[in-house]
Amino acid sequence: MARYVFVTGGVVSGVGKGVAVASIGRVLAARGISIAAVKLDPYLNVDPGTMNPYQHGECFVTEDGAETDLDLGHYERIIDVNLTRSSNVTSGQIYSSVIARERRGDFLGGTIQVIPHITDEIKDRVRAVAAESGADVVIAEVGGTTGDIENLPFLEAIRQLHREVGQANAVNIHVTLLPFLGATGELKTKPTQQSVRELRSIGIQPDAILCRSDMDVPDAIREKIALFCDVEPRAVVALPTVDTIYQVPLTLEESGLGDLLAERLGLRAAPPRWEDWRDLVARIRAPKKHLRIAIVGKYVELPDSYLSIREAVTHAAVHLDRDVRIDWVSAEALEHCDHLAHHLGDAHGIIVAPGFGNRGFEGKIRAARYAREEGVPFLGLCLGMQVMTVEFARHALQSEDVHSREMNADTAHPVIDLMPDQRQVADLGGTMRLGSYPCQITPGTIASAAYGVALVYERHRHRYEFNNTYRERLASAGMRISGVSPDDRLVEIVELRGHPFMVGSQFHPEYRSRPTRPHPLFRALVTAAIATLREGEQTPLPLGDPVPV
Ligand code: GLN
Repeated sequence: MARYVFVTGGVVSGVGKGVAVASIGRVLAARGISIAAVKLDPYLNVDPGTMNPYQHGECFVTEDGAETDLDLGHYERIIDVNLTRSSNVTSGQIYSSVIARERRGDFLGGTIQVIPHITDEIKDRVRAVAAESGADVVIAEVGGTTGDIENLPFLEAIRQLHREVGQANAVNIHVTLLPFLGATGELKTKPTQQSVRELRSIGIQPDAILCRSDMDVPDAIREKIALFCDVEPRAVVALPTVDTIYQVPLTLEESGLGDLLAERLGLRAAPPRWEDWRDLVARIRAPKKHLRIAIVGKYVELPDSYLSIREAVTHAAVHLDRDVRIDWVSAEALEHCDHLAHHLGDAHGIIVAPGFGNRGFEGKIRAARYAREEGVPFLGLCLGMQVMTVEFARHALQSEDVHSREMNADTAHPVIDLMPDQRQVADLGGTMRLGSYPCQITPGTIASAAYGVALVYERHRHRYEFNNTYRERLASAGMRISGVSPDDRLVEIVELRGHPFMVGSQFHPEYRSRPTRPHPLFRALVTAAIATLREGEQTPLPLGDPVPV
């Protein structure tokens, strides 16, 4: 039977609960315990697929094509598991399925209420993750902060589930923040105490408290929290802000949380193995030559909008012994600037990010043109691949009237067109071509050298595609189709001949990159970028600002 770890948040949001949850998973996985994770999001959207990234950060896509919260990306990367659509539950999903059943007549005669109908549905979803995954431990993270009105049904559901599976088979972990008051030089515990009091008032007693703070937490503070919150002192764990999120599992391990959880849950745990992880963190920290990669997108003010891309670049750079600096470049700013080099001139490689709609499109085109003409290594991701295709086609067909049908329905040359099976689609939510599909790699191409295998599976999220009627014309002008669907109907990867590295993928390689296994296309981009490094630029840089976890 699966054991459960329920994680709640206190004091404020945005303290890095997702990274903490993923790191709890890593600490258990390091002991040979299999893990599944589920994020319980209180908002009413069915999924974040239709949300603006400024509202919610990036939309992460699973193998089975669910559009999910970005925390699933943290879980997949840090725990090193592939999750499914069951791992992101929202109030929107819960309510729509309960209401659909009510309309069908399933509850005939009954009054449908938050308790028990909504809470039962939540419990069923969490149990389903256990049943589907067969994992030893399911970690369930409740989104939002204790005290929010909207996450109350989730808290009630985990309280009930805890009772149902038995006290010995589940633990509650509360993640809080210890604010620092500069004037008195103190870390304050009161918000944590109040948050735990709130949690206890709804029947949840934490077994462990993870305290985020910007500095080290003295033992006296931990002991005070333990006393007032009725938690063992060893179960109050300090999580000070660190220079890399990949340090967090090691911090948890050093605190003894892994042994404590294994003991509390009666798990058969192997001695923990951390060799690869310690090696990873040591490599991240080692002084290295630097490398600059520009990411061109329209949501660059919030780098969480491109979280998986940033991580994928970092994984590749670390493995190639580079300290990568990401220059976030606004696609709109490129539309109006006179000197592209002002924004892109320092970059050793350029990535054009995925996206939807017209805003910033021509700026992305200018970035692709710059990369093509200047020979700068370039990776186009999804819309970025479509941008690369439009830009190259404008040049190859000697026409400005070349476009993606998404941006201009009446263009003379729709080199990117709506996929046939998208023509009848009316609803926007969950209707794109989503999830993992096979892609056959053309031998003798850059893609083939990067992957080293003939067939790969990659995750998708798009409605538009390369228009096959232009294949030959663009190929004869120097574009290679280096990856296709096995039936050859869909172009998945394009690249340019005679350019050091100009590659575009219709899929999103960033979702599959793992810290200990960087994705081949990102590795290839970084390798090509390193090859362009000029003398004198190879001095080690100090580590960047601490990354909040
Ligand atoms: N807007 C493009 C499409 O729907 C690209 C989508 C994306 O970049 N994820 O095909």
